[in-house]
Amino acid sequence: MQYYSTNKQSPVASLEEVVIRSLANDKGLYMPEHIPVLDKDVFRSLKDMSFHEVADVVAQAFFGDDMEPDALTAIVKDTLSFDTPVVQVHDGVFSLELFHGPTLAFKDVGARFMARMLGYFIRKKGIEQTVNVLVATSGDTGSAVANGFLGIPGIHVFVLYPKGKVSPIQECQFTTLGQNITALEIDGVFDDCQALVKAAFLDKELNRCMQLTSANSINVARFLPQAFYYFNAYAQLDRMGQAKHLTVCVPSGNFGNLTAGLFAYRMGLPVEHFIAANNRNDVFCDYIQTGVYTPRPSVATLANAMDVGDPSNFARILDMFGHDHAAIAQLISGYHYTDDEISATIRAVYAAYGYMLEPHGACGYQALMQHRLAPGETGLFLETAHPAKFRETMEQTLNMEIAIPSRLQAFMDGKKQSVMLDKGFAGFRSFLLDVS
Ligand SMILES: *Cc1c(COP(=O)(O)O)cnc(C)c1O
Repeated sequence: MQYYSTNKQSPVASLEEVVIRSLANDKGLYMPEHIPVLDKDVFRSLKDMSFHEVADVVAQAFFGDDMEPDALTAIVKDTLSFDTPVVQVHDGVFSLELFHGPTLAFKDVGARFMARMLGYFIRKKGIEQTVNVLVATSGDTGSAVANGFLGIPGIHVFVLYPKGKVSPIQECQFTTLGQNITALEIDGVFDDCQALVKAAFLDKELNRCMQLTSANSINVARFLPQAFYYFNAYAQLDRMGQAKHLTVCVPSGNFGNLTAGLFAYRMGLPVEHFIAANNRNDVFCDYIQTGVYTPRPSVATLANAMDVGDPSNFARILDMFGHDHAAIAQLISGYHYTDDEISATIRAVYAAYGYMLEPHGACGYQALMQHRLAPGETGLFLETAHPAKFRETMEQTLNMEIAIPSRLQAFMDGKKQSVMLDKGFAGFRSFLLDVS
């Protein structure tokens, strides 16, 4: 399969090139030349398949022609070597908790898959130059990427994070790992970290001296594996006799997760409608309402992994639908919530069901409620993080102590190692040139 750029100003590229480069030279996002449609029989038999089997079918359909099928199966298996998410139901509302990976974030799946696929191509093609992954983080992405790429030969990860601006738990998850993970503590805010990464990608000399790439959801190998979840959710709902007339609601920031759901839909998965749940960063909702897309600076909210003012995967959604606003608005609805609404939802759901939503999932739940499904329709929302990852917010909102799962606690016992840098590009640049 070949991949084209959404800006159409770069030549098509192979899977290997796309995974190594992340972004096309014309700054567009890579899209597969076609989306494979699965046989109807596959959907009928999904309910009898394990998560690994379902994921393998999806992965083979996309990537099976571009790598050894057995190696791909091994990557899928290794990526998903943790508990399978289980669909739950509270009062007729279905939810799927996507936080069973090593850092209790749904981003674990994409990060682990991308790391292993990149590692495969490095081995296979005998690439000798180290591939350097630069990732700017406000917390969650850095931990998922660092843990996903830990110990993969031929790859070095640099995590840039704002000093004093990430929670202690999050900081431990990427500063205590060692090996091929280097944490860079930047004296600035998240936007400064992101600006440094962007400047590095634009710096000709740096790119001559070292192979740089990103690991956010612009990378095909990072966002696409998230489609596995949608197939698995469908399989579980089908087992429960609830898969007809399905609406899936996705808490969204950069829209990688929702885009993966749209890919599943295009592959034939019988989802009838999608909902994008946003916090106050609601450019997508505005687009759905008006047909006009106006990116703007992000504002800080309780659901901070969705504080995105110009979602990177929006370009993919436009491209998938040929920029047809009516088609997009017919398939996807959007709702957005303030911090007060998020807190109220967390409190109300806990009081009614004893179920603990965290701020991102709270947007998802509330959007599904606001959407008002008709009788006979099934609504599923995705819960994207474990509440303990937002401990301070949760404790304040619910006025109770939140226990830290042992998996997160274990990170706190490690020794913090980081390199301090100021927010100027010159220092970051010479640091990279020194280590390369
Ligand atoms: C990253 C993240 C999101 C947003 O996912 P996108 O794919 O960027 O839309 C939502 N919730 C949590 C907890 C996240 O970490």
